[in-house]
Amino acid sequence: MPIKHSLIAQVGLAQPIRKLFDYKLPTCGEDTLSPKPGVRVEVPFGRRKVIGLIIRLRKKSDLNETKLKTIISILDNRPLIPCTLLRLLEWSASYYQHPLGDAAMRGMPNLLRKGSPLPETRKKYWQLSTTNIDPVLSTVKNSPKQKALLTLLMSLKAVSDKELSKEFSRSIIKRLHNNGYISQTFLDSPKTETNKILNDKTLTLNTEQQQVLNQVSLKKYHCWLLNGITGSGKTEVYLRLIERVLAKGQQTLILVPEIGLTPQTVRRFHQRFSVPLVSLHSGMTDRQRLLAWTSAKNGDASIILGTRSAIFTPIPRLALIIIDEEQDSSYKQQDGFRYSARDIAVMRAKHENVPIILGSATPSLESLHNCHTGRYTQLHLTKRAGHAKTERWKLIDMRNQAINSVIAQDTLSAIKQTLTRKEQVLVFLNRRGFAPALLCHCCGWVAECKSCDSRMTFHRSYNKLICHHCDFRSLPPSECPRCKSMKLIAHGAGTERSELLLQKAFPKTPIIRVDRDTSRKRDFMNSVYRDVKTGHPCILVGTQMLAKGHHFGGITLAVILDADTGLLSPDFRAVEKMGQLLTQVAGRSGRSEKTGEVLIQTYQPSHPSLNLLLNSGYSTFAQSLLIHRAQQKLPPYCHLALVRAESFHAPDAENFLKNIKRKAQELCSPSFKKMIYTNPMPALLERKSNRYRYVSRIEADDRHELQKLLSQLAFEMEKHPKRSGLRWTIDVDALDL
Ligand code: ADP
Ligand code: ZN
Ligand code: ZN
Repeated sequence: MPIKHSLIAQVGLAQPIRKLFDYKLPTCGEDTLSPKPGVRVEVPFGRRKVIGLIIRLRKKSDLNETKLKTIISILDNRPLIPCTLLRLLEWSASYYQHPLGDAAMRGMPNLLRKGSPLPETRKKYWQLSTTNIDPVLSTVKNSPKQKALLTLLMSLKAVSDKELSKEFSRSIIKRLHNNGYISQTFLDSPKTETNKILNDKTLTLNTEQQQVLNQVSLKKYHCWLLNGITGSGKTEVYLRLIERVLAKGQQTLILVPEIGLTPQTVRRFHQRFSVPLVSLHSGMTDRQRLLAWTSAKNGDASIILGTRSAIFTPIPRLALIIIDEEQDSSYKQQDGFRYSARDIAVMRAKHENVPIILGSATPSLESLHNCHTGRYTQLHLTKRAGHAKTERWKLIDMRNQAINSVIAQDTLSAIKQTLTRKEQVLVFLNRRGFAPALLCHCCGWVAECKSCDSRMTFHRSYNKLICHHCDFRSLPPSECPRCKSMKLIAHGAGTERSELLLQKAFPKTPIIRVDRDTSRKRDFMNSVYRDVKTGHPCILVGTQMLAKGHHFGGITLAVILDADTGLLSPDFRAVEKMGQLLTQVAGRSGRSEKTGEVLIQTYQPSHPSLNLLLNSGYSTFAQSLLIHRAQQKLPPYCHLALVRAESFHAPDAENFLKNIKRKAQELCSPSFKKMIYTNPMPALLERKSNRYRYVSRIEADDRHELQKLLSQLAFEMEKHPKRSGLRWTIDVDALDL
């Protein structure tokens, strides 16, 4: 007797366990079926049936094969996830210390994860089922319509469903189909001819843009950092590169930050190219996402425009990856599978041997460092494209202002002058709500969240106190709960209060607030665009939603209300982030022919980093931060990982991390000495949603040693019983401290 089930499938399941599961392959009669890796299967798991993905096939299992269960059914004829992508997922899961099965399943659209079939994205056509048509014609001789349909198919061979149903009723088509005279077939939509790729007439490139294009070759892997100031025409460079890819009939993947994927962005690509384009982002329904994903996977979509998770989309004819605003922190997933889509993109480009462009006006220190070490090549665009001029910066010293003043006198007069010149103003404040604190004037009581170590933000429009960490909401008290005084004051300012203050100062000017609260309304950003585009004087006030990616031509004054939060934060990346944000906001002004002005309000007008940024620009600023990081041996001059634990009882979290540190010491004592492994410390926000959060920081020179240690620790931590209410995570290349 031949031994059946001689092959074992290693299946990845969406489970928080760091291993693959071995299953026997099913049989069909005498034969063992042999699905390929990348195919979905249904398998028994405990008492349930679950969907998984075959990651590898093996001759035999390390486990006792008689005890292995058998795959229940195979869901796909062909791999959903190609080999190259499976290898990328393996690399990512191992690098970020996440269970591979979970990573692989999460990389797929929701509906596929739940077992839905891959949708048919090709066009449906009708054709005759037989070549011997005469007997058929005689059976339908009493129905002129049916006869006409068959005759049409006889001469045209195949007619698309859409065309056919214009001429014939559904019931006629259905009857012929049921009788077996005609049948369906699916054909690829005709590929766009290369001379029909462009819609628009293109601009004449300036010298710098031309030089950049001459330098980038599409032949093989290389990582380019396109460092170009805001408005220097980076997007134009992307479009030209994409044009080259399209001419070869290949596909491009473009990633943009979460809030950068606006209808305007999509429109710009649509306007230029007449090729199929799909976008992939969190605002889509499951069905829309599945269709877009499938279209990319089948090679139909020539341009795939997506946010972070689009990095795991199968793209068979991938020829170029572009990451816009590469420094943006939304590329790093902050929970669950904590990957960096930018860094995985670089690895994907390497695996698939295609070039990758990281674009930014304010590159991350990591990427600049990679240019210095020669891993990436830097390309520069130093001038604004077209006629736009670069902006003038000025600091506004808040120390001389009235206490609690939100907008300084000098700022108000600059806004007034701008409006009188019939120009537009942008006011930036990265804090939504009315006031970040509600306090008692008599006894100093402050409204705090009952579940977090944080203050409640007062939102006047909802008349609610809201915790921005856990979203707990409550009505503002009418009197102080401590001393019963009625003198409760909203302290400090968020966007809502700034809007009100501006409205008071400029009652005749339209004030448009853009933040997460106002933009909930559908089509909100489009209406903002329309209003601003009219060119009438107005004031835009908002959070980072305003700072990124939007192109408002008429703004000539940008105001940053509070530069100090970044300067005072204990996070070692805060100053870098502040510099990036200020530069981005500044870049919103003066995009047209008039010179823009940027005002920065601060209590620390002599802060060295701030002054360096103002006087010498972002590159010099970044250079000095890099020197500082090198001296302090901080990333990118070391590899950083965080081990976090949280629990309802603070000592549980702390002790757990202490034990893990002890374990780490045992496991790799020689290399442990070369690492910095801190004792567990409370996180910056120690209590969130009633959980106490602790963190140990590991800094290592040697990436491999660190990886090795982390995988061993993950294995150890996994042994900890789940029911104790303790949660832990490993965050490799953590951005959030
Ligand atoms: P970035 O992506 O660097 O912010 P964009 O590509 O959006 O810059 O370009 C900014 C503006 O300049 C856009 O309106 C764009 O159409 C225009 N532009 C880009 N390149 C040129 C050029 N070579 N000549 C004229 N205008 C240009
Ligand atoms: Zn009080
Ligand atoms: Zn809270």
